[in-house]
Order: sequence, then C-alpha cells, then structure tokens
Amino acid sequence: MKHFQFEYDSVENFTQKLAGFRDSCDSSGMQPKLFQIYSEVLEAGVIHEVCGVIEQFFPDTPYLGCSTSGNIIDCRLSRDITVVCTVFELPSTKVQIFQYDLSKEPVETITKAIVEETGKNPWVKAIEMYFTIPEGSTTRFCDGLKEIRPDIQIFGGVSCSDDITSDDSCVFSKADGFSENSILIVFYGGEDFHVDSIKVTGWKPLGRKFHVTKSNGSVLQELDGIPAYDVYHKYLNIKNDENFFYNTLEFPLFYEHNDTTILRTPVASNADGSITMTSDIDIGSVVRISYGDPGTIVESIRHDSRKIAEFAPDLLHIFSCAARRTFWTDKEPTYEIEPFKEISPSCGFFSHGEFLRTNGSLNQHNVTLVIAAMREGEKKEQTARTTAADGHSLSKVPLVSRLATFISVTSLELEDMNKKLELVNEKLKTAAIIDGLTGLYNRKEIQSQIEQSLLKIGEEKFSLVMLDIDNFKMVNDTYGHQEGDSVIVGLANILRDERPGHVSSGRWGGEEFMMLLHNTDAGAAAYIADLIRQCFANTVFPSIRPQTISLGVTQAKEDDSLDTLCTRVDAALYKAKKSGKNRVVVV
Ligand code: GH3
Ligand code: MG
Ligand code: MG
Repeated sequence: MKHFQFEYDSVENFTQKLAGFRDSCDSSGMQPKLFQIYSEVLEAGVIHEVCGVIEQFFPDTPYLGCSTSGNIIDCRLSRDITVVCTVFELPSTKVQIFQYDLSKEPVETITKAIVEETGKNPWVKAIEMYFTIPEGSTTRFCDGLKEIRPDIQIFGGVSCSDDITSDDSCVFSKADGFSENSILIVFYGGEDFHVDSIKVTGWKPLGRKFHVTKSNGSVLQELDGIPAYDVYHKYLNIKNDENFFYNTLEFPLFYEHNDTTILRTPVASNADGSITMTSDIDIGSVVRISYGDPGTIVESIRHDSRKIAEFAPDLLHIFSCAARRTFWTDKEPTYEIEPFKEISPSCGFFSHGEFLRTNGSLNQHNVTLVIAAMREGEKKEQTARTTAADGHSLSKVPLVSRLATFISVTSLELEDMNKKLELVNEKLKTAAIIDGLTGLYNRKEIQSQIEQSLLKIGEEKFSLVMLDIDNFKMVNDTYGHQEGDSVIVGLANILRDERPGHVSSGRWGGEEFMMLLHNTDAGAAAYIADLIRQCFANTVFPSIRPQTISLGVTQAKEDDSLDTLCTRVDAALYKAKKSGKNRVVVV
C-alpha cells in the first residue's frame, strides 16, 4: 500500500502535479486505486475544480472527500485542501465507494442497503464512513448496521468546517457528486488486506455522577431532575453566553454505553435550561463531567501507539475531534498524534464526531481520536519501527491534572460514604417503626396508622382487632422465655399474612397485638378475627402444646379519638378473657 499526497493551492499547480504523477504511474506501472480529498474549503465550485483535475488524469479512479476542521497529513496539519492518493500493491485488495443521500432516503433504507451490500461482498473487511453533520442523532444509523458481520471493522468521522460551531459540512465522491446531506461509505478488503481500529479519549471523569433524568435525542434537558445548564453553571461557573460552546468544550459528559466509554460535548445552551449536545444521550445514563487530562491522554496514546506499531500498518486513517485540536492548541494542534508519525504514513482530519465499532456495536463518539490502521500482506520486516511515543511524555504532571485526580477521588469517596449513609438511614427508618422480635409494626407506628385512619373516617370505615395470648405467663413459666418468644413469633406470622395492604398488624406490647382493618366493618372484622383464632389454635409448636388467643373487635366511629377507640377494643378483649378466653367479642 503506497500513499502520495498533493497539497492543492491552485488549479494550475495541481494540474501540473497530477500530470507528473500520472507520468510516473505510467512509467512504473503503478495503479492508483483511490483519491481522498480533505478540504477546509466548503465551496462546491472549488471542490469541483479539484475533482475535475483528478477526473482529467485518472478518469477510472474513484475519489471521495469531505470538508474538515483541519487536514491531518502524516500527523501534521496540512494545507486547506489536500489530496491523498492510495495505491494498493496487491491485486487482491479492493475498495468500493457508495454515497447515500440523507434527504432522499430514510436512514433505515440506507442502513439496509449497506448491510445488503456487505452481504454481497464477502471480501469486505472494513467500512469507513464519512457523514455530513447530521440534523439529529446518528443512533438509528449506528443501530441499523448491527447486523453487519461482526468481523468487519467500522470507523469514520463526521465532516466539519473551519468553524466548529457551524453546521456546515459536505461530502462528495465520484459516485454521487457534492452533497451537504449525505453519507459516504467506503468498503476496504481482500484476502491480503488487514485492518485494525482503535479509539483514544484520555478524558477523565471528574467529580460526582449525575443521572440523565430527561432528554430528547441530543437535547439534554435534566440531570438529577435539574436543568442541565444549571449543572454546568453551578459546578463550572460556565455562563449562558456566546462563549458557552468554547467553555464547555473541555468538559464533556462522560458515560458508559454499549460497553464502551462515550463523550458528549455541549453545543449550545437553550432558553429552557436544556443543553444541546453533539449527539444523543439516553435517559437513565449515568454521566460525569469529564476533563481533558494531558497526562492520561499522552499515556493512552503511548500505550495504543505501541499496539498500532505492532500491527505494522502501511497507512493510518485518523479521525480526531475538532475539540481535541482546540484542547492542544497551546502546544500544537497535532501534538497528541505525533507519536503515530514514526509508525507509518497517515491521513485524516479534525472531525465533528467520530465513529467506531467496539464489541459489535457502532457508536458515534465526540472528543475522541479514532485511528484505523491498514496493511496489505503480512507484516514487513522493516516495519519494526520504534514508537516515538516512548519519548513523547509530559515530564511533569500539570497541577490542574493533580487537582482533577484529587476531585475525582474525593467525590468517589463521598459517593461511597453517601451510599453507606443511605443504608444506615434505611435501617434507622425501618428500626423506628418495626418491632424487633416479630417484624410487625411497633406500637408507635400502628398507633400512628390508627390516627391517620381516624382522620379519614368520613371517607372510609375501619375496625380494630386486639389480640392477647391466653395464659401466656404459664407458657413462660413452664417452657422458658425462649419458647415463649417462639409462640409470640408464631402468632405474628399469622398476622403478617393477613391481606397485606388492607390490614396492618402491630405488636401492642408483650403478647398483645393490634390489627387495623381498612374498609372493614365490625361484622367482617369479627369473622376475620375468628379465622385467626382458629388458625392460631391449630398452630403446632415443636415443643409446646397448642395455645389459644382471645380477641376484641370494634369498629371506629366518627367521633372516636385514638383513646376512646383503643379503650373500647381493649374492653372487648377484656370481655373475651372474662367470658372464658379463646374467643372473639365484638363491642
Ligand atoms: P391472660 O390469658 O389473662 O392474658 O394471661 P397471661 O398469662 O397471658 O397474662 P398477662 O398478659 O398478664 O401476662 C403476659 C406475660 O407475657 C407477662 C410477661 O412476662 C410475658 N411477656 C411479655 N413480653 C414477653 C416477651 O417478649 N417474651 C416472652 N417470652 N414473654 C413476654
Ligand atoms: Mg395474655
Ligand atoms: Mg397480656
């Protein structure tokens, strides 16, 4: 695989360059297979001129191109318009270009067509995509390509313009000409073609996490129930002014999706407090504000450049987010990609979004660096290249990076602590209303529920059943306190099963219980009380003979207070005891 570059400055000069190139192709028998045009110039007229010269000298060679926010050639920014010619050296290597017009066909039709084309062409090993800036989310597009053979790598970028805040972009190809709303698809493959693709972010999550509680496509409305803009304002003091985009650029949201990490950058803040993001974020995503950490970025690149070097590529295609260009501007826009320079020739551009298929899922990324490495044939000897990455390191970790680590660790600790506190709180809350021995409500809670029911007595009748174990002192005296406890628990278990939601049962004290029966009159309550009496009388305890209970029943009256009502049910229970126990008395 060979790679030739031509910087375009004028039609005349470019014509001369291509004429010379054609001559050298003719004399060496070299056959260009693909021209790629990277252009910071968006005017259709200029692009036509460039394409015209290519067509003039290489009428049979396919070409394609896109607008960019900077052209990356051999890991350096190149001129406004750069043309790259790829020559495949092995006859088995193939390339095919498709262009789909998004204004003419629905996304589903396009993805279906791509899936079908891939099926028809078993030689395909990689799919490269060039998108114009999409109006909405690309999720449907990405999901539509799920069925593509899992071994096929997919990568690419969204075309861009010099002004990264603008929506202007274009793609073009020999297949379907110039378009401001299309997708270019390039198939690469053949038996001797090898490809690998990676992504590098290096952005570090910073501080606490937020749940996306409201979003609509790429409009992020609420984080933890508060307007998304308020989060950026509160935590980063970013104002809702003309610099919003540039100020948030370094602090994208970071989250996990499809088993990979995704970054989304705010593009604009809206009047209703929502923020338009570079792509969609699903409701339920757990996000953190993240920070571009130079040390982490350099470390990730050092690591990945070794992997790429091992692959021994003939050519790298680079898709780097325009935000990264802005991020490194103080050093050099291409600072972070320079380590790849020693590995192989490369071409690519600063993009408005990056695509990569990871673990079978295709995702649109932002603020990400996607690199595709391509090679024809087996690894060549001389490709045991050193990686400049080994020498490319930040000698001193910047203070801000250390502070970012400090904030992250502190907030992780806080989150951990909060989780523990929540658990303790839950336990405390439970302990405050639940009786320890029986698991039923305690007296305070059942009293409070009776009071609540009294407040609504005009709307809903209710009854109380008070229960007391008969001759319980004897159980304790004969079998011991522990056996006595098991009898108390045995009764509680019967009460717990009684129509949850309609009946609340609580331990009133010792071996006395109170049941609150919602929407139940005295007759029905007495009926239920007697069933419980029978059930308990038939309960078998391992080492104690069956026991009995006495029950008092009363229905609440409109003029009842907690006191009058409880006194009445207590009197009913007293009557049951007095008249022989093991019975129900209604008052
Ligand atoms: P009666 O049929 O009239 O209700 O007779 P009784 O023996 O049940 O009389 P009383 O209600 O006066 O006695 C209740 C006994 O319950 C007294 C107390 O020692 C015992 N008791 C109270 N709480 C517990 C407890 O949590 N566990 C056990 N094992 N015994 C308890
Ligand atoms: Mg008793
Ligand atoms: Mg008692």
